[in-house]
This record gives sequence, structure tokens and C-alpha cells, in this order.
Amino acid sequence: MSGIDLLRSIAETKRRLRAIQAQGLRIGMVPTMGALHDGHLSLVAEAKRRSEVVVASVFVNPKQFGPREDLSRYPRDLEGDAAKLAGAGCDVLFAPAVEEMYPAGFQTEVEVVEVSQGLCGAVRPGHFKGVATVVLKLFSIVRPDVAVFGEKDFQQLTVLRRLARDLSLDVEIVGAPLIREVDGLAMSSRNAYLSPEERARALALSRGLRAASEMYQRGERGGAALIACVEGELASAGLSAEYAELRALDDLAPLSSAEGPCLILVAARVGSTRLIDNWILTRG
Ligand code: AMP
Repeated sequence: MSGIDLLRSIAETKRRLRAIQAQGLRIGMVPTMGALHDGHLSLVAEAKRRSEVVVASVFVNPKQFGPREDLSRYPRDLEGDAAKLAGAGCDVLFAPAVEEMYPAGFQTEVEVVEVSQGLCGAVRPGHFKGVATVVLKLFSIVRPDVAVFGEKDFQQLTVLRRLARDLSLDVEIVGAPLIREVDGLAMSSRNAYLSPEERARALALSRGLRAASEMYQRGERGGAALIACVEGELASAGLSAEYAELRALDDLAPLSSAEGPCLILVAARVGSTRLIDNWILTRG
């Protein structure tokens, strides 16, 4: 087996991590739902740069799945995940059972109200409440000094930054760049659902975003034109956007033109698989 400490109980995790913290060591945390790929491992690398002990969690959180979503078929491979994490230099893997995190009688919810609305929040009611609740619980167990989240899930990152600020949590929230496959597809555990034909069509998301970014580089600032570019690329692959929007980088406020720091976020269904992607628009 791997050289990583696999912990399943909250009490044991608290004991071990409090002992580490008593030595004055900084803890970096990477929360995940497992089925790990290189995008996840890039977060571990970032956490290692910023802390002395890295704790990853693998927990497929039922509270962030809607009733008609893919909770039961979500890919699970704890042994493979542990080996990948060990290889990436992660020290501790916290992988609690659902009953450990949500024992009978659990009824607390945390909601980051405004920034959870729109985009994925509009299509997945309750999703970000589930995310905020589980991440706050993970933080209270692990008490990380720093926690790293991927810009792949940009709205989630924005929700969690707001959560940490609003509740004065003693954790620095760090965003890490979106990692892509060589052909441009954003890495995601859900890519495993795609048939070869769907995977080829899924490239329209990153292709559309790249094309819009190139328009932006050439001087286009109109939100409608940039979004039409993304939607056109999706349409050419027979896809239609669940949303495609230009938003401000810091608070995700809707924008009609790409004047300040901003990004385009897109979601689309490819067959029965829902994919998201985004592209930060930068000059130069
Ligand atoms: P998940 O396991 O999908 O809940 O993701 C766990 C963490 O990994 C989140 O912070 C995600 O944003 C991040 N992540 C997932 N895919 C990528 C990717 N392609 N690039 C960077 N981070 C990612």
C-alpha cells in the first residue's frame, strides 16, 4: 500500500492533526470527491508549496447532489486515489463514510446567499449549500491554515472565499489554475462518463472559450459577441449551453462588456453528462 495515512474517523483525524499543529506545522488542505486526476494532484502540489503537512479529503458529499443527479454512479476508487495522493506527496487522506459526516439527526445548513445564485446555482438548487456545509465541517475537523480549490469550479471557489471571509475563518482560500487534457478538455472526474463520440463533441466547450479569448485578444470587448462565439462553437458540435456568461472575476457580477478582470463561464450537457468550463480573459 501507499505511504499515506488513511483516516476514516473524525475523532482520530482531529487527534492526529491537533498533534501535528501542536508542533507548529502548517496544514494545507485539498477537499475532493475522489476519482482523482492530474487537476486534483495540481492542488496537492500547490498545498505542498504553502504548508508543511498536506491533508486531502475524499468524500462524495450527498448534500451537494440534487435528487436527479449522479450521486449513485459517481466514480469511486479510494485505493487508486490513496496511491495517487501518496505519489503526489500528500501526507494524510481523510475519507469519512457518509454516516460519519452526517449522523442521524444532522440538520445544519450553511448558505452563502448571493454568489450561490445564477450559473450552476440556477440549475442545481441547493448545490452550493451542500458544498458550503461540507467544506465548513471539513475545515472544523482539519483546521487547515490554507485550503486549495481549483478554478475549474470557479463559482464554488467564489462561494468558499465568501464563506471564509463572512465567517472570519482562520483559513486562507487559494485558487489554483484549471488543468486541461492536451486537447483542451477541462479535466473532470465526470469525463469518465463520456463515450468516445461524446468526448469529441465535448471539446466544443474549450474550443468556444479559446475562440472567445482570441476575439478578446484582438480587441473585442462586447459581452454579447464573446458569448455568441462560445455558443456558436457549441452549436457546431450539436450542443447548447445551459449557460454561457461573462462575469466579473472577483464577485461574479454579471457584465455586459469585458472591460475589467473577467471570465466566461459555460455549462453544457453532452449526452447525459453535464460539463462545466471557464476561461479567464487577460490581455497580452
Ligand atoms: P471534485 O473532486 O470535482 O469535487 O474537485 C475537487 C477539487 O479539485 C475542486 O477544488 C475542484 O475545483 C478541483 N478540480 C477539479 N478538476 C480540476 C481541474 N481540471 N483543474 C483544476 N482543479 C480541478
